[in-house]
Amino acid sequence: MVTMSFEPPAEQLTDEQGPPSLLESTARRSLRTILDPEVGLPIEELGMLPGLLVEDDLVRVDLALVPERVHLADHLSNAVAAALGQLMGIRRIEVLPREMTSVERDEVGQRLGAAQGRQIARLSDGTTKVVAIASGKGGVGKSTVAVNLACALAAQGKRVGLVDLDIWGYSVPKMIGVSGTPLGFGEILLPMQVHGVKVASIGLLVDDRTPVVWRGPLLHEAVQHLLTRVYWGDLDVLVADLPPGTGDVPMSLAGLVRDAVVVIVTTPQETASAVAERAGRMAKTAHLRVAGVIENMAGYECPHCGDRSELFGQGGGDELADLLKVPVLGRIPISVQLRRSCDEHQPVVVAARADAVAKEFIAITSRLDRSTRAMVRRHVPVTSASPAIGDGATVRPICEKARTM
Ligand code: ADP
Repeated sequence: MVTMSFEPPAEQLTDEQGPPSLLESTARRSLRTILDPEVGLPIEELGMLPGLLVEDDLVRVDLALVPERVHLADHLSNAVAAALGQLMGIRRIEVLPREMTSVERDEVGQRLGAAQGRQIARLSDGTTKVVAIASGKGGVGKSTVAVNLACALAAQGKRVGLVDLDIWGYSVPKMIGVSGTPLGFGEILLPMQVHGVKVASIGLLVDDRTPVVWRGPLLHEAVQHLLTRVYWGDLDVLVADLPPGTGDVPMSLAGLVRDAVVVIVTTPQETASAVAERAGRMAKTAHLRVAGVIENMAGYECPHCGDRSELFGQGGGDELADLLKVPVLGRIPISVQLRRSCDEHQPVVVAARADAVAKEFIAITSRLDRSTRAMVRRHVPVTSASPAIGDGATVRPICEKARTM
């Protein structure tokens, strides 16, 4: 039986009545596998299962939902019932959805904040690979690459985060197709999940029409906030979309994440030496290692006659890779499908997996993996300008909207 009412439960369900029985432990374990479909995190971690009572063959579950998640009551009640229904010894299941109290919500925020500190350490100890996507200038397809690589990695079963560090020119939310306001618990924000990728961007925190004018110190805080105040959970890979050119953001990233690698996106036409010089300087100052180059807009094949035109010239990717002594990880042609999929908020690796461009993105993930494995792992000193995450870094919320969530 699944009971669904929004009355507060008659009694506070509690497990403070002695050690849990075997059935109760099994029930708790199975409930841990249920994910919030909108953020991709276990509902137990988000404090939605504050009470579980086992009496003979009856299991009663207290399902606490924040007001913004009330629409998930049916879905999650059914998920709880389905998970418990598979266990031997349980014949009756009662799920009691109700609104999470503000006290509970604050407690969840504190718990997530503490757990976040530990998880963030994983960004620095190499457990989570951090891959920053950079470019010498804007408009070369850096965000397109970041979004598609993140989706390709997620499609391979990796736990992937995508952080939009292009603070002034964010385009990740639109390109990947995520909107709305992230859920907040105290000072902690949850990323939003789409196509299996957890996404955080300033673009989800500010009104579309608000001009985002961040200057130096504020910019560093924004980067810090996106990395340390977003509850990423356990990630295999965090893809970071950097702003074009050099600047403070790579420095901030490197100050927070010890072992990030950089992938440089260029067009065949860009003057390789200029990009290489800028990228090399950026990587050197920020203590980031370059894992490879992706050449984007590399030729156009006419879908009608099959003729190939090198609209933006040739060779920029190879030259840049030679100068930086790194591999070319892939070449993405000019593709109407790719452009359209960006405009329609459906990355090509999701919308058209069989497309040649989608296949190239998938191949790039393997080459990137090989390249990062081949890179000699070395300790990179952390810049003194910013405390390393996990070392007690303090951050302030980045905007009023975040402050009130
Ligand atoms: P950046 O992040 O470097 O500023 P974007 O990823 O935002 O660049 O791409 C700029 C525009 O170019 C977008 O409209 C995108 O759809 C388009 N674009 C990027 N790569 C390609 C490609 N290979 N073929 C066709 N259009 C592309």
